[in-house]
Amino acid sequence: KNPIKVALIGNPNVGKTSVFNQLTGLNQQVGNYPGITVEKKQGACKLCDSTKAKVIDLPGTYSLNASSIDENVVIELLLNKNDEDFPDVAVVVTDVENLKRNLLLFTQIKDLEIPTILVINMADRMKLKGIELDIPTLEKELKTKIALVSSRKKTGIEELKNLIFNFKSLSTEPCLSASSIDPEYFDKLRRAFPNQLLYKLWLVITQDVNFLNLERNEIKNTFTKSHADLKRLQQKETIKRYQFINDTLKIGYKIDIAKATDIRAKIDRVLTHKIFGYLIFFGI
Ligand code: GDP
Ligand code: MG
Repeated sequence: KNPIKVALIGNPNVGKTSVFNQLTGLNQQVGNYPGITVEKKQGACKLCDSTKAKVIDLPGTYSLNASSIDENVVIELLLNKNDEDFPDVAVVVTDVENLKRNLLLFTQIKDLEIPTILVINMADRMKLKGIELDIPTLEKELKTKIALVSSRKKTGIEELKNLIFNFKSLSTEPCLSASSIDPEYFDKLRRAFPNQLLYKLWLVITQDVNFLNLERNEIKNTFTKSHADLKRLQQKETIKRYQFINDTLKIGYKIDIAKATDIRAKIDRVLTHKIFGYLIFFGI
């Protein structure tokens, strides 16, 4: 039987390699700085007596709006169904403390309609940071199965293996449809290429990667607007995605700001106090 092909995807430093090591029993180098996984690494994971998974640890990437070689590796793999490593299931690894930022990439992967599992890693830090998750709500809103994992404490790994084993039952539904970014523009795209995934076409238009070679020039010639227009559409995409993520986390995620290490959250808090302080001081 062929092994189930699993791709580990996620921002730098979320614990992809740590999860990879737990799944495969290998000992790839783990680091607390970005860019340590510079190429695809692979290993085998035994799911049960008759089934194995082939796990690929990909370099860290912030989004599918590629700007570095690392990110191109991920995009080229995910867009090329003929690649021998094209995953049966994409496992998107996130850090429970940075879920908001990490979910941007997750929503993009979901738009490629690949069976996807969301791993929320570093579960061991939740108590310390005052984080509470409503997993059923998050699963429903994000249209995904979630494995809450601590690769440090080795918890949640069996649940993750189970989800991988049952990958055929995973949802391939997108979180939010690409066409909501700019309905008029995407309608035209859909009419011109009715058999292609919209978000895939969008990546062909905006990214400099090699796939869909036959149609690539045709697509580009017909649909490339000015550079400024494309930038504006990309910004709209990011805003739409963060709106969706914010709405989702509002109902499924709680963090105690006093315990957060997120510098921006702390600065916000200090500034708010300062401003209120001045208002009171000046008797406003
Ligand atoms: P990658 O860049 O996504 O491959 O992340 P790594 O696996 O290299 O891990 C990044 C850092 O996070 C390392 O210092 C790990 O020791 C740490 N780390 C990974 N998983 C966990 C976890 O479950 N809990 C805690 N507390 N730290 C973790
Ligand atoms: Mg790594």
